[in-house]
Amino acid sequence: MKGRTQELRDIPGQQFDLCVIGGGATGSACALDARLRGIKTVLFEAGDFAGATSSAATKIIHGGVRYLEEAIKNADLQEYHVLVRALHERICMLENAPHLTRKLEFLVPSYSWIDAAYLDIGLKLYDWLAGSGRRISPSKFLSQQETLARMPGLNQKGLIGSVAYADGQFDDARYNLALVQSFAQAGGNALNHASVIDFLRDKDNRVNGVLVKDLLSQNTFTVNAKTIVNATGPFSDSIRQLATPSLHKRMRPSKGAHILLPLDIFPTDNALLIPKTEDGRVLFAIPWGGRLLVGTTDEEVAPDAELVVTRADVEYLLRHLNHYLARAVTPDEIVSGFAGARPLVSSENKADTKTLARDDVIEVDPLSGLISIMGGKWTTHRAMAEDTIHRVQQALGVPQTESMTHNHLLYGSEGFTDDYWKKLCQEYSLSQNTAHHLSSKFGTAAEQVLALGKENAALMGPILEGGEAIRAEVIYSVRHEMAYTIEDVLARRIGMQFYSWRDSIKAAPVVGSLIAEELRWSVPEADAAVKQYIEKIDYLLDSAGLSRNRPA
Ligand SMILES: Cc1cc2nc3c(=O)[nH]c(=O)nc-3n(C[C@H](O)[C@H](O)[C@H](O)COP(=O)(O)OP(=O)(O)OC[C@H]3O[C@@H](n4cnc5c(N)ncnc54)[C@H](O)[C@@H]3O)c2cc1C
Repeated sequence: MKGRTQELRDIPGQQFDLCVIGGGATGSACALDARLRGIKTVLFEAGDFAGATSSAATKIIHGGVRYLEEAIKNADLQEYHVLVRALHERICMLENAPHLTRKLEFLVPSYSWIDAAYLDIGLKLYDWLAGSGRRISPSKFLSQQETLARMPGLNQKGLIGSVAYADGQFDDARYNLALVQSFAQAGGNALNHASVIDFLRDKDNRVNGVLVKDLLSQNTFTVNAKTIVNATGPFSDSIRQLATPSLHKRMRPSKGAHILLPLDIFPTDNALLIPKTEDGRVLFAIPWGGRLLVGTTDEEVAPDAELVVTRADVEYLLRHLNHYLARAVTPDEIVSGFAGARPLVSSENKADTKTLARDDVIEVDPLSGLISIMGGKWTTHRAMAEDTIHRVQQALGVPQTESMTHNHLLYGSEGFTDDYWKKLCQEYSLSQNTAHHLSSKFGTAAEQVLALGKENAALMGPILEGGEAIRAEVIYSVRHEMAYTIEDVLARRIGMQFYSWRDSIKAAPVVGSLIAEELRWSVPEADAAVKQYIEKIDYLLDSAGLSRNRPA
């Protein structure tokens, strides 16, 4: 990917066929789909790529077991179609970025034979709807002994066994970056920290360009675009109303919070699905990145609500989790957390956000011509983009061509194999942990990261003593992945902020000084960036009721 400086030289004043607003999963997928069909496309993201909802997912590639139950109970054909489409999209997602995804088995513990039979039948239906997709195995009943062999930390009292079924798991932030990098590799222009603040219009008041503010320099510039896609997730209404103020709001954002715990409190390679919370939801406890990821909550919020994990979220998540654990977890064992807003689209007759389908809606505003893609979920991002770009081609008045993204290997996937990390160990004398970390974050682009270490041996050193991430990743992220802030690096490029808030605080001065050197920041600028980042993490700890000094 080109650097920000280069893109800031290239983009302003250009004429594009398509401008995509929003660099989350949906916008990045739209940009890639369009570019692969030969459409000249620019992508603007107000924060960082995946900086909003798209790095706050539970990170499951799924049809949605709960939606199956709802589709059956409500005899809802639309819910059924959403589910089937997602089940098919799972395979594309798994195959297009093997370094960022894996198949994962979910265990639903049963404490009564009736529940077990109900689940078993339901999950057989889930298998059947999915068809005979590759890499996904069929559901099965596991005895108590088999269940405990896989999840020794489970509450055994009254346990009769579990039903196991398979879905997928992924690294959402890195998947999003891989979409943007693939888009850039295909010749697209992308810029983060760049907010669309107004539209340009033709004589009929139809949008034909955007006014963009570079939030780092505060400079503004314009670009012309024949079509504009609004892919701003929970923020969609503000862009829709910027185009046509009389449009009614459609978004009903719903906050979901997650916490992360050390994996040794519940050692497992499978995911636990808690089938029913007191408010009728499901909850997951999933091994992810060496931690146990527990989530999520569901609370309707305003689009500009603060999205942090609160003490109440912690209490809710642990209360439900602890029913299922042999040893109860306490809040001070939490190592980090995150929250995001589901971009749910309202429908007239559904009152409650947990019952709103995770379906997507494409709206073409007849007055301004703005195309908005709203709702959906990560698992269906590719299919949503395919449908959106069909509409873009209609608006451009060009013949509809086939989407190329179905089998398009994403950046870092080319030549990747499951034992690629071994090659890194051998050729670069890396520890197994660092080799695993680099191959699972960067895929085969890990060698570009390591090439920086060949130029400057100091960059092969760890960011934190004993940690797996190395300093070269910071330089690579800034030079080739448009990272600019300490959070861009620690949260979305390297993942340390999700692994441990306290480690991130320790790493901030190291990362800050590496970015400063690369971007030629002055010492006061670097110090201010480190201070600001640490204050933010302290605030996240405090909001969740945790303190910086408790053991990590
Ligand atoms: C708690 C939770 C758990 C979830 N779990 C799963 C899961 O396990 N599996 C799954 O498939 N899905 C899951 N989802 C759903 C999935 O994460 C979302 O559907 C998806 O990330 C939405 O992507 P998006 O691009 O539409 O929105 P976002 O990621 O929010 O992207 C929109 C972007 O638009 C940008 N933007 C806004 N205004 C402007 C502007 N004026 N100019 C430029 N850019 C702008 C924002 O900065 C933002 O980055 C979950 C969601 C949540 C909240």
